[in-house]
Amino acid sequence: MEYAEHIADLVGNTPLVRLNSLTQGLKPLVLAKVEYLNPGGSVKDRIALRMIEAAEASGELRPGGTIVEPTSGNTGVGLAMVAQRKGYQCVFVCPDKVSEDKRNVLKAYGARVVVCPTAVPPEHPDSYYNVSDRLVREIDGAWKPNQYANPQNPESHYHSTGPELWKQTDGKITHFVAGVGTGGTISGTGKYLKEVSGGAVQVVGADPEGSVYSGGTGRPYLVEGVGEDFWPDTYDRDIADEIIPVSDADSFQITRRLALEEGLLVGGSCGMAVAAALKLAERLTEDDVVVVLLPDGGRGYLTKVFNDTWMSSYGFLPPDSSGATVADVL
Ligand code: PMP
Repeated sequence: MEYAEHIADLVGNTPLVRLNSLTQGLKPLVLAKVEYLNPGGSVKDRIALRMIEAAEASGELRPGGTIVEPTSGNTGVGLAMVAQRKGYQCVFVCPDKVSEDKRNVLKAYGARVVVCPTAVPPEHPDSYYNVSDRLVREIDGAWKPNQYANPQNPESHYHSTGPELWKQTDGKITHFVAGVGTGGTISGTGKYLKEVSGGAVQVVGADPEGSVYSGGTGRPYLVEGVGEDFWPDTYDRDIADEIIPVSDADSFQITRRLALEEGLLVGGSCGMAVAAALKLAERLTEDDVVVVLLPDGGRGYLTKVFNDTWMSSYGFLPPDSSGATVADVL
């Protein structure tokens, strides 16, 4: 018999798949690391597991403790799944603009979700920032992972994602491409790949146009989970050789093509990373092997990227492309 003791034991060891259609006319082999096949559905399962285990080892998180984090998305799911295995409570703080579906996912794993008003300044006692700090102070046994400052975030990628890629490509990877949010993925994976290859692997960040990583000021963009308006501690500025800015339109159009042409139903930051990988691949040769990391699946974005009306409202699609009629099909 072959089975895991718990779903949380299945984090990592995600597969690589070749991109075929989107890469037509390009010379290098382009492989995607499919992180939605993690048990919580995203790359964030990796950091959740390592942050929790390190906090247990250091005594910051004790039996029966409560994990408090301002997150509405993938990190919350990873933390809740690992907390379930280990008997911790979870409280997630999210702004009121977060969809009910996303909140319900977290509640389904047994987490409590505290919703804060978006329309108050950061110094207001009910702000997203202040509420999570207050909960940490007031809940007995509370611990805040703080994915933007926790060194275990990049460390998890240094110890898992990086070694996996080196092994899976038999040391033939020449370029690693990843979107940058907290910077944990690119910093940890990139550091490992640089070390193991003696500096040969090139590390390329993908960033929404307007974010600080590609020289912007944090101007709003629609792609979720990537780009920042500040420099988090988890981003190591010495790792990326290059940052490629990608527009929302390109990110979302490539995201849709990944589902249509490659059978990969993935989130908008995946389209962004692939858009950067394709731009990079244009200047590479047959000897290069590019790996692009796809952080999550597309189910959480059905009302946005995969909704024609939403896409058209931002001018990302021709205005008349929503819905087929019976006559179209016949
Ligand atoms: N894409 C998505 C959907 C994410 O949730 C995140 C994490 N914020 C990223 C990309 C970026 O990963 P990282 O935080 O490791 O830079």
